[in-house]
Amino acid sequence: MKRFVEGESRGQCTLLPECLDDYITENNPVRVVDVFVDELDLGKLDFEGVAPAATGRPAYHPAILLKLYIYGYLNRIQSSRRLEKESQRNVELMWLTGRLMPDFKTIANFRKDNGKAIRNVCRQFVLICRNLNLFTDAMVAIDGSKFKAVNNRDRNFTVAKIERRRQQIEESIARYLSALDTADRAEPEIAKAKTVRLNDKIALLKAQMEQLRDIETKLEATPDRQISLTDPDARSMATSGRGSGMVGYNVQTAVDTKHHLIVAHEVTNVGHDRSQLSNMATQALDAIGTERLIVAADRGYFRGEEIRACDQVGITTYLPKPMTSGAKANGRFDRADFIYDAQKNEYRCPADQALIWRYSTTEKAMLVHRYWSSHCQQCTLKEQCTPSPERRITRWEHESVIEALQRRLDQAPEMMRVRRQTVEHPFGTLKVWMGYTHFLTKTLDRVSTEMSLHVLAYNIKRLIAILGIEGVIQAVRG
Ligand code: SF4
Repeated sequence: MKRFVEGESRGQCTLLPECLDDYITENNPVRVVDVFVDELDLGKLDFEGVAPAATGRPAYHPAILLKLYIYGYLNRIQSSRRLEKESQRNVELMWLTGRLMPDFKTIANFRKDNGKAIRNVCRQFVLICRNLNLFTDAMVAIDGSKFKAVNNRDRNFTVAKIERRRQQIEESIARYLSALDTADRAEPEIAKAKTVRLNDKIALLKAQMEQLRDIETKLEATPDRQISLTDPDARSMATSGRGSGMVGYNVQTAVDTKHHLIVAHEVTNVGHDRSQLSNMATQALDAIGTERLIVAADRGYFRGEEIRACDQVGITTYLPKPMTSGAKANGRFDRADFIYDAQKNEYRCPADQALIWRYSTTEKAMLVHRYWSSHCQQCTLKEQCTPSPERRITRWEHESVIEALQRRLDQAPEMMRVRRQTVEHPFGTLKVWMGYTHFLTKTLDRVSTEMSLHVLAYNIKRLIAILGIEGVIQAVRG
């Protein structure tokens, strides 16, 4: 066995034993975790147990448990049981915690009881990045992605799902009853065995039917007519894949376009992005600490009120309008073919006729104006325009905000490419780190804490990639 690299004997004693610090090189990321947590004012960030209790068994300092978690999320060890094991065998963790080995319950309780504080730590790291002037471009891309909850699809109920399940059970009962009839005609011994088995199955299905009735009663009392039995906050959501859906959460992020750091994030249980634009953009504006911000998002965020809300606080938006025009789909003129003349307050149609203002009304709590022309009946282009007696155009009172957005987008079409390149990478990375599985915790509050730990780990890795280990340690120390 010569000519191979040989290890030391397990029984070999050394005169001068190595210390733990010898195993942790100067450029080991675990040093960033250590310095970052040591520099935090945990009391100010709302952590429990910063001051030791006067009586009882001494507790672990929150800094130890926070270091343990940040290390875990940086190294894809998110479960408290696995963290307990790692703290007993992993040299980096022994170095980080001073060989403390808390049990999994203590580790899990820390994450459960310090949700708000952990989210504050995530914000604190963004503040460090801001102080390093990494957000000078003041431009973010906003996107949402669905993440699975602990809740199985079969344990989530909507009105439609209950109806479908009831039909399936009724069909199964009918099938078993007809099988019972057939069994009656078989040999007595076989018939007896079959009858017992089929009756058991029918009884089970009837019990399920009863359970469905109970769930239906509870469903009536919920505001969004939906119940999840394992994680009560998880919701059934459609995903981009046709016919697919999941029970989970919608995670929103605002990612800076220059360094791809996650500036702001929020976990919601609303299955669409329509009401999220101004919320996420304002959070990003606060986190970056500028007066003005440029935001790019996809068409799922398009909503007049949200775009206007951004406009009012100095946020410039770039997002395309959803393609929902029925007229265009049917080969007729699109709404965009009608040009608005602000001075005259009228539209010009493709036949160069004026569509004048007729009346105003309120629709879905928005003031809208209606315009049409009196020439439609004689128009030679009417076939291509409308099947109705005249083509009516509806204009929202703040439509100019949407028109300004369209002009911006026409002048900067590359913004949509920038958006795609920016936001899709963090979500892809986070899902790989999670192992394409569900969240480990239940309820919106705890899931938000879990996501904050993922985002913190992601941002730490990004900053290390930008500045290097030494650079991050210096930056954290200020
Ligand atoms: S049908 Fe009416 S609105 Fe349409 S092109 Fe003709 S005149 Fe214009």
